[in-house]
Amino acid sequence: ETMKSQSHVAVLASPGMGHIIPLFELAKRLVVHHGIHVSFLNITTEASAAQNQLLHSPTLPPNLKVIDLPLADISALVTEDTLVVARLCINVQESLKPLKSILIDLGKPQALIVDLFSTQAFDICNELSIPTYTFFTASTAFLAFSLYLPTLDCEVECEFVDLPEPVQIPGCTPIRTEDLLDQVRNRKIDEYNWVLYHFSRLTMVTGIFLNSWEDFEPASLRAIREHPLYKQINTPPVHPVGPLIKEDEPLTESGAECVAWLDKQPMDSVLFVTLGSGGTLTTAQLTELAWGLELSQQRFILVARKPTDGNTSGTFFNVGGDVNDPKAYLPEGFLERTKGVGLVVQSWAPQVAVLRHQSTGAFLSHCGWNSTLESITHGVPMIAWPLYAEQRMNATMLMEEVGVAVKPMVGKVKDVVERVEIERVVRMIMEGEEGKAMRCKARELKHSAVKGLNFGGSSKESLSRVVKEWKCDKI
Ligand code: UDP
Repeated sequence: ETMKSQSHVAVLASPGMGHIIPLFELAKRLVVHHGIHVSFLNITTEASAAQNQLLHSPTLPPNLKVIDLPLADISALVTEDTLVVARLCINVQESLKPLKSILIDLGKPQALIVDLFSTQAFDICNELSIPTYTFFTASTAFLAFSLYLPTLDCEVECEFVDLPEPVQIPGCTPIRTEDLLDQVRNRKIDEYNWVLYHFSRLTMVTGIFLNSWEDFEPASLRAIREHPLYKQINTPPVHPVGPLIKEDEPLTESGAECVAWLDKQPMDSVLFVTLGSGGTLTTAQLTELAWGLELSQQRFILVARKPTDGNTSGTFFNVGGDVNDPKAYLPEGFLERTKGVGLVVQSWAPQVAVLRHQSTGAFLSHCGWNSTLESITHGVPMIAWPLYAEQRMNATMLMEEVGVAVKPMVGKVKDVVERVEIERVVRMIMEGEEGKAMRCKARELKHSAVKGLNFGGSSKESLSRVVKEWKCDKI
């Protein structure tokens, strides 16, 4: 026991709830299930209410310490036009300047675990002889792409989006050029260089934790482990430890109202609509979505965010912080006409509590990886509405390989998904035979996910093996 309680690792999350949530979950598991002390290093930003609530909750286990890094001043390094990922990377770069002294003050933890966007930490840890790990917060398929990007960058001269064929990733399903993430669609911009920089450093770590499980993406996993190309680039061992998703979160007042409302609805009858931590729609698209929901006559919970024209990750850095008035931007009379059938909540809903609820029958989601895992883990089929990052890849995989999602078609004329199309897919997933089949598939996957996480399951064992290495190190 004494030896156990001495093991201490640090976890460092890049800004954004999509990174903080899964890394914090990993930190909690290490503390609660494996008896490790964890220092959780949080890169301070103009944090959202939801983020503060998560990291500064009074119910955290005592051996999990949250340390806020000093707020970095990046005002001289960014402009209004700096894109969101570039801003995030600059923020990380500046925030990590005091990392060395922080790690020394912490008595040099036995390992540092970071996500995809904080790889500068590897050099600092190298100086201090602290082994590093990545917790990859996206799919295994996307890890395969990320590891391969530096090679692709050397081999391909033109823009990837101009390639005549889908991008062939060794041993994996080819990626259609239209599904490529925004940051690699134009190789001349800063964001591309940032992404290339971080992705090319992924092989510097001792191990890569994956938020996935052995049975979920077997082909990509096999490719990364066995394909000669991945051996050639010295890919470190990968450890699928997922799905690690948020468990019981304390409910806010509006969160509790959501759950109370769901308690009164029939089983599998409610469509939950929310677009990740930062997703927003254009004014025209939000209008069509609201009309589509109304026309479908299905029950729904809609997380309403002020529309932004021209930026799909409009509230990425400040979700839940804004007071917003849905009446001002939803179609006139929408709230009155859908009263009782639909519930509109502002900015943020307790997603896991909603997905877990038996009244929830489907999820209209932007297909961020955490949302994907949360939906599958609760056996909920999805309407895929990808917006930014690697979400188009996730959506395609969920539709074409996994069979738990349907994607509405964009109208030819106005470049929006029109209300009748939304009505069609909503009815299909809530009432149709295809919806039933997808729900069945989602429930099968739920069982496979739970099996992996149970005692003796592959994900649980994967994490235990690495923890054992840390503990042995201590002797
Ligand atoms: N989330 C939530 N309530 C909301 C929207 C999002 O609790 O109304 C949580 C969601 O449960 C997930 C995270 O925010 O854990 C979003 O992560 P994801 O990877 O799906 O997308 P990202 O925000 O990174 O685009």
